[in-house]
Amino acid sequence: MKAAILTIGEELISGFTVDTNAAWIAQALLPIGIRVVETVSVGDDPEAILGALERLDNRMGLVIATGGLGPTHDDITKSAFCRYFDSALEFDTVYWDSLVERFASRGVVIPENNRSQAEVPVKAEVLPNSVGSALGLRFRSPQTTFILLPGVPLEMKAIMTEEVLPSLGKRTGDKWITVRTSGIFESALAERLESVLASFPEVKVAFLPEYSGVNIRLWPESSGNKEPGEVESAARAIETELGALAYGRDQASIGKIVVEALTARGETLALAESCTGGLVASLVTDVPGASKVLLGSVVAYSNAVKEQQLGVSPESMRDFGAVSDVVVREMAAGAQAALGGTWGVATTGISGPTGGTPKKPVGLAYIAVAGPGGTVSKEMHLAPIRLPHKAATAQAALNLLRLEILRLEQ
Ligand code: AMP
Ligand code: MG
Repeated sequence: MKAAILTIGEELISGFTVDTNAAWIAQALLPIGIRVVETVSVGDDPEAILGALERLDNRMGLVIATGGLGPTHDDITKSAFCRYFDSALEFDTVYWDSLVERFASRGVVIPENNRSQAEVPVKAEVLPNSVGSALGLRFRSPQTTFILLPGVPLEMKAIMTEEVLPSLGKRTGDKWITVRTSGIFESALAERLESVLASFPEVKVAFLPEYSGVNIRLWPESSGNKEPGEVESAARAIETELGALAYGRDQASIGKIVVEALTARGETLALAESCTGGLVASLVTDVPGASKVLLGSVVAYSNAVKEQQLGVSPESMRDFGAVSDVVVREMAAGAQAALGGTWGVATTGISGPTGGTPKKPVGLAYIAVAGPGGTVSKEMHLAPIRLPHKAATAQAALNLLRLEILRLEQ
């Protein structure tokens, strides 16, 4: 079935809000075999909404629209749909009473504005909203089912998950796999995988570079592929070819992999962060259960903190500078010793825009891991832009730790 997404809101087309609803909905439809072939965004403008409906009706099996169902004057999606389907509105007193009660239970008197949310188009079916006050709606034309959902992502997801996806049936869709890599550039990766990919002509591939590494997305050439195992086989062949360069699939994160590995080993982690300013600690603490492994992080931004808290030697600082291989190794060993961790991980670098020199340009970074097998370090030349530089350095530091743990386990 062909599907389209229609996201509605001035904030979307003006660029102030990123359209995460469209991305989430398209991904949610994939496993049940529905491919989104078009995504349209329009403002809170009745003519624009009507134009989009006219264009999508009969061409699509399914249209999922979000936004403009709130109680304020700019929320006009429902009336635009009513105009398109020539439907009157009916006031649902039962729903209104339940809203009054819901607000009262939170100690709030319901604003009169909310009355509009109890007005239900007679030609639509209601899709209950378990987390908010705007109801979802389903309209049908001869060829097309239109689902109308609130714009608030949490509410959209609740109605999709509880009402819409179950109603769309249990067809199994194509399998999409993302193989995540770290430590190899996109071009080198593509070259290395050329012959592997050539043996899977039925599988489509996209290389998706991010600051954290390059993701390889795989999906079947045509929907309803007769060879459903092909995508899985291609992913396995890629993982075999890449070895430790591939760290996980789909939603995997290096932080999670490291936390799980250290938890399983009963080991702890101490961090010393200069240029990443706590970002490594943030990636680790994003993972539930991080408290079992993370002892702490010294954000050692000044030379004094590097020397006094981490025991970096003043001579190393003088002779090699704060951004150097020697110092990052001392920082990692210093964090390990100062916090008493099995592992110490350190970062130092020049994120810019200022502070670079011909010998040490913006973009330079050093990372180190001190562990049971000794200390390893790496010099890197990353994007000379502050935030990507921080992100890439933090990711690389955790990846180096992952590789060291793997090396110990071999
Ligand atoms: P609405 O249902 O139009 O009242 O939307 C309420 C809020 O949801 C807006 O202020 C946005 O912050 C958010 N929102 C609406 N549409 C989207 C979208 N397509 N993607 C992400 N957030 C959205
Ligand atoms: Mg809106």
